[in-house]
Amino acid sequence: MSRETAEFGFELRTCRWAEREWPPDRTDSDDAVLVARQLGTGRRRWDTIVLECDREALGRRANFGPTRLDSDLLHVVANAPSEWRYYRDALPHPGYPWRYVREAIHQAADRGILRRRKRGNRIEIRRRWPYPDWVTRIVAIENKPDLDASAARALAGQLEYDVAMALADEVWVATKQTDEAVEPVLLEDLPIEAGVLTLDTDRLTGDVEWFPRTLAVEDPGTRILERPTGTDGRDASAARFEYADPEGKAQKRLEIAERAYERGWRSFVDTMRPDCRHFEGHARDGTHIRPYCRAHGRCQTAAECGGSCPEFEPEPPIWRTNGWPLEGGPGGSVRRLLERRRRRRRPDL
Ligand code: SF4
Repeated sequence: MSRETAEFGFELRTCRWAEREWPPDRTDSDDAVLVARQLGTGRRRWDTIVLECDREALGRRANFGPTRLDSDLLHVVANAPSEWRYYRDALPHPGYPWRYVREAIHQAADRGILRRRKRGNRIEIRRRWPYPDWVTRIVAIENKPDLDASAARALAGQLEYDVAMALADEVWVATKQTDEAVEPVLLEDLPIEAGVLTLDTDRLTGDVEWFPRTLAVEDPGTRILERPTGTDGRDASAARFEYADPEGKAQKRLEIAERAYERGWRSFVDTMRPDCRHFEGHARDGTHIRPYCRAHGRCQTAAECGGSCPEFEPEPPIWRTNGWPLEGGPGGSVRRLLERRRRRRRPDL
């Protein structure tokens, strides 16, 4: 099995485990947990993201619908007044031309999440609901089922970036449990601020091998742009970095949370081909469905399962006869089941 295939399957297991067990160190937590995968910033993408959410506020977030609010919409919706006001008086200057704000106002009004009216030449706005403070903490997990020395070196650099930036409240590494007395991951040279988690993917259980340090998300972050390679100990060049201000970080965190809210982690099926006759869903423990390709004889990755797959074969039309054209065969059922489960994680939608 290729590394990509192994990592994809492991990543799905981590997501499911986090959804059931998070937080691993607190049994009394009343936070709601939302899990997503493959999200981050332009510079850094995390494998798994766990959002710890205020349960009641998460329910109120549902007022704004299942689709994410991007930065322009957030600016309008989060600052909209409770009484009718001219939009330029009501909103802080966005730092970019007002015409983009007008566009966001129209978009928000069309989505039904903002009230808008015209008074003469002026657009006035009024909020429908206050935008809730629903995200308590953001946790990033890097998945490395088999952490050999070269993977550990690459991972160490990524984790150092995360720790210096402090965009997530915690960063973790998840790796596969072994039978060794000391888990090999603990012998690698990873930043001590990162937590270490080992997972038994068959039983879907996990052990914390090392607890992470909480990162200073409200302080300025340091973005590492370039570092000396240290090759043969001769690279004496200086590291390059820049600062990230706390307001920008808070904004970025909220944008990531919004994208996680929209996508969850089951959305992997959206980029696959469940309309292929070889597509199936397998659930070993009855609770976690994973994609399975009969042509490959294993769990296929989202990258493999696309329009360019040489084994792709459209499902026979007869599979669709009962609900054509929306239903379809086993792949269609898997998609609908995953969508129902994704929706269930977002209360009050
Ligand atoms: S044959 Fe290709 S397209 Fe069809 S399910 Fe398998 S990986 Fe996906």
